[in-house]
Amino acid sequence: MSTEPVIELDDVSRVFGSGPTQTTALNSVSLRVMPGEFVAIIGPSGSGKSTLLNVLGLLDRSTSGHYRLNGVDVQLLGESERNRLRNETLGFVFQDSRMLLMDTAAGNASLGLKVRGTPWAARASRVGVALHRLGLMHRMSERAINLSGGERQRVAIARAIATQPAVILADEPTGALDSKNSDSIIAHLRELNQQGVTVVIITHDTTVAAAADRRVEIVDGAIVSDSDHARANELENTRREPAVERERGRSARKRFFIRLWDEFCDALSVHSSKPARALLLLTAFMLGAGGLVCSIGISESAAAQVTERLTRASLDEVVVRSASASAYDEGFYAPEGKAASAIAGLEGVKGTGFVAKISAAEARITLLPSGAVASQPVFGGPILIADAGYLDVLGAAASPSHATDLLSASWAPRVALLGVDAAASLGVGTTGPGAQVWVDGEPVDVVGVIAETGRNPELRDSIVLSQAATGNLTPDNASLVVRTVPGYPAALSEAIPLAVNPGDPSQVRIETVADLRNLRFGVATDLGTLVGIVSVLLLLLASMSSAIAMYLSVQARSPEIALRRALGASRGSVWRLFTMEGLVIGAAGGVSGAALGVCAVVVVCMLQGWTPTLSPSVLVLGLFAGCASGVCSATYPAIVAARADPAIAIRG
Ligand code: ADP
Repeated sequence: MSTEPVIELDDVSRVFGSGPTQTTALNSVSLRVMPGEFVAIIGPSGSGKSTLLNVLGLLDRSTSGHYRLNGVDVQLLGESERNRLRNETLGFVFQDSRMLLMDTAAGNASLGLKVRGTPWAARASRVGVALHRLGLMHRMSERAINLSGGERQRVAIARAIATQPAVILADEPTGALDSKNSDSIIAHLRELNQQGVTVVIITHDTTVAAAADRRVEIVDGAIVSDSDHARANELENTRREPAVERERGRSARKRFFIRLWDEFCDALSVHSSKPARALLLLTAFMLGAGGLVCSIGISESAAAQVTERLTRASLDEVVVRSASASAYDEGFYAPEGKAASAIAGLEGVKGTGFVAKISAAEARITLLPSGAVASQPVFGGPILIADAGYLDVLGAAASPSHATDLLSASWAPRVALLGVDAAASLGVGTTGPGAQVWVDGEPVDVVGVIAETGRNPELRDSIVLSQAATGNLTPDNASLVVRTVPGYPAALSEAIPLAVNPGDPSQVRIETVADLRNLRFGVATDLGTLVGIVSVLLLLLASMSSAIAMYLSVQARSPEIALRRALGASRGSVWRLFTMEGLVIGAAGGVSGAALGVCAVVVVCMLQGWTPTLSPSVLVLGLFAGCASGVCSATYPAIVAARADPAIAIRG
């Protein structure tokens, strides 16, 4: 037996605003409700009933006065303690049942226990008991959307009593129901009251008020009458302290993880209840994360390719240049010249070839003489001047095979060999007698195509000219490429300068690793960078669309947010709920994106003829990019949701 009031308001006021717009919604209200009472608070619209309910329900703070709930002075409590006290002591029933429509009756009835962090088994049994008391066991697996208005309101009562509260606060619980369902709801509340639960109903319905034992009338924020039929001393104290104590005894960490798991499941069910929206968002995150994985994969594979070629070249290749600017004109690089002959005589040398470059703008290579047609394309690819030895040391081959000899013939013919792609881009169909291109306004015979590119894949896109074909054009970057027996480059890089120019060896420059510019590295990284930029943009776009979708969802779900807060959910819990939604969709996008990225890398590498190279950390990066952009997209909506004032939100 308890003679302590469960609700004790002492001179409580609530004032909104200040200055001329100031409104006193509650004016020095004092009220004591004993355990087991059934009280109706009545009054005209605007009299302060909802404000009183918000103060009683710990959804709002009074401006002055004292409020003790179940013996606890709430004025002294911080927000998290108020949340817990609300969850453990109060059960709410609203005018509109505030169901999560896509969830089942049992799921809805268990919401307060979820917020509390009650383990699943205990939750199921308490919800079972609550639904049984409301005669709804047969509907427990039905989605709320398929329940009638009366059934939903009974589920709402089951939700309120599942947490075994000391007090049920009901705000116009029959306002949206017909008389038959109203009677049923009142009967259920009565029955609960007879079993010991304190019930406080806010209503303007006289029939409902008549069902209560005590009627408190409020006008202009002040209590004007109180029938005061307190039955406190006649009723047994049936407050559920032991059950509440058990919950409190459970470790806070365990309850946190139970809640976290529930928030994760709730996030999943939000997405599964809107599959089209979820699929669109997932696709956006997947493309972004996949693109990122793909771009890094392409760059890594290209880099691996370059490394492989460099390693190969460094084993058996040396590049020789003269420090003199006039070396080309002085015949330093001539096929049978002094330098080439001196190098050829050294031990470990397998062959020597000459190569230089000419700018496409200078050479102006066209298919027809200039002026023959109104406008014709000028070849824009790499243009090399080389001798037969160069193609030889690369392991390249021409078709017909003797065509390469013409590059070094002593009678200095003006000839060109075309890479396969270069021939296609110029529109040269056949080679041999009669086939010509025009170099700097002069005809040059096309004597063959480069059938095998050997070590320099760039030859596919290139035109190789004989020295005679270049007329007065100035070549750049001239060099002698020396193929050596594997392992000889280091020794030869010391011997060659002495052999070529014994008087002044410093005039001869040696490189032991192939020139990077001859490799497709540039092209490959360009592709990687492009894919990378596009995927970062896609990720941003995905985050933005997800943020907008989630922001709209926060607006649409404000009744749910209010309900969760009323049931005791903290701001942190509401924030986590929405953040989790972003995380779930972002993570799903990240996983599928990583898989998509791997497939794309394999396809690109197959097309380029590379070995796919992708470190596992890139997959982790894809997943991380998905998760991070998902969480980022949810940040603002989650903050908006968490900040919602429960007292305002609950008014709808
Ligand atoms: P009832 O529920 O009886 O209709 P309310 O408690 O909603 O009455 O309102 C009481 C008074 O307080 C009204 O004059 C109302 O305009 C005012 N009021 C309620 N909430 C707010 C608020 N958040 N800001 C300003 N005034 C408010």
